[in-house]
Amino acid sequence: MTDKIKQNNETQSEANCMEKIVALAKRRGFVFQGSEIYGGLKGTWDYGPLGVALNNNIKREWWKMFVDSREDMYGLDASILMNAKVWEASGHTATFFDPLVEDTKTGERFRVDHLLKEGGIDVAGMTLAEMDTIIKDREIKSPQGNPLSPARQFNMMFETSVGATAGLDSTVYLRPETAQGIFVNFKNVVDSMSPKIPFGIAQIGKAFRNEIAPREWLFRVREFEQMEIEYFVRESEWEKQFEKLRLDMQKWHKHIGLSAENIREYEVPANDLAHYSKRTIDFEYNFPGKGFDELAGFAYRTDHDLKKHMEASGVSMEYIEPDGTRFIPHVLEPSFGVGRTFTAILCEAYTEDEMNGEVRTYLKLPAHLAPYRVAVSPLLRNKPELVEKARAVFSMLKAEFGNVAWDDNGNVGKRYRRQDEIGTPACIVIDFETLGQEKPELKDTVTVRNRDTGEQVRVVISDLMSYLK
Ligand code: ATP
Repeated sequence: MTDKIKQNNETQSEANCMEKIVALAKRRGFVFQGSEIYGGLKGTWDYGPLGVALNNNIKREWWKMFVDSREDMYGLDASILMNAKVWEASGHTATFFDPLVEDTKTGERFRVDHLLKEGGIDVAGMTLAEMDTIIKDREIKSPQGNPLSPARQFNMMFETSVGATAGLDSTVYLRPETAQGIFVNFKNVVDSMSPKIPFGIAQIGKAFRNEIAPREWLFRVREFEQMEIEYFVRESEWEKQFEKLRLDMQKWHKHIGLSAENIREYEVPANDLAHYSKRTIDFEYNFPGKGFDELAGFAYRTDHDLKKHMEASGVSMEYIEPDGTRFIPHVLEPSFGVGRTFTAILCEAYTEDEMNGEVRTYLKLPAHLAPYRVAVSPLLRNKPELVEKARAVFSMLKAEFGNVAWDDNGNVGKRYRRQDEIGTPACIVIDFETLGQEKPELKDTVTVRNRDTGEQVRVVISDLMSYLK
């Protein structure tokens, strides 16, 4: 086998690698362009049969690790549409802006901070006016070489309206983060579940941001899913709990197979922190052709949100200790994007090597994430006795794992290549030996082929389940 295609310092081949991943994702049913037959809709992508399987596996594993395996976490599924007062209280109506400039010739819009960063300028803590001055002073142009408009702020929340009575409809927003759904339900969860502090509320759900310049495949889109936790702590304990959750986030990235050298923790400098945060770490992934960029965020949000909602709604957001002490908890927020996690997993898994003198592409996905856990096929599809036996093995495994593929197209070599390309960890073939026709001692054994090594072993059917596990 030769090396993985990903080699540091070879940006060209890395960019190429990303293109290959995007092409594979389309060809093999992972990700399609949103509304493709109508020319698409910028910033939207649709997950195909294998994409939704991988996505569901990511979310299931996340829920298992952060909710089901712990005693201090509670789940929630809040509405996407929320009373507009939520966003006034949280500060989103007034401050959820990104800085925008336009190419004065083409009208194309860009994020000012991204344009400057790409030009090697450190924009941490810079105001809009300061960025505007730099553009003017240095005569920075659009990527097409045209002059840029003055910079202005652009609110990223999608507006819509609720109600069926003309004139009485009121404006609401598609939530730009799932977090506020948790804060507004804080009291409900405390009252119904009586959790002991520290505890967290976890949620997986869609969020919408009218990104100025959606780009880089699933990395910056206008509709995406988040997996978020608001972890409520006593103020005096925030640092201790911050370190614990930070370790949990590291464990998560390991669990989904991201290698330590491709993950970096970036301490957001004090002058670049969001107004509500006293400390934020971005977990960055080394995306091929792009370099390190945010995969997940981890913020200490103090008591900002609960306090604001308490002031605006008049409802107490205090936690009451058994001894009667009342206080507003402080909050730590691990926040993961499903799409960016999905992308990082594919980048990590994408591998090219040589097998039997042929170049092959495969996804080295961990078994707990692979769309199919295993594929089953009869050696020949026109031999009913092989098909019947293979169907029995398929049904047995399907009852256990659920995500089992039946594959009888083409010859066995082609099936292996196809399953390699979508990351199926093992392929099982039922042949004449399984039927005991050639070597009686091999009756009721099957060939199990390993995706990564290509090695094949004979396993007794009754041992298959434990072998695969
Ligand atoms: P960025 O700085 O890249 O715009 P952010 O700091 O605004 O991201 P957060 O508000 O911290 O992002 O959101 C938490 C997570 O949600 C991010 O770490 C990312 O994984 C995901 N996310 C945010 N915006 C997008 C987007 N437009 N497309 C895809 N995922 C996103």
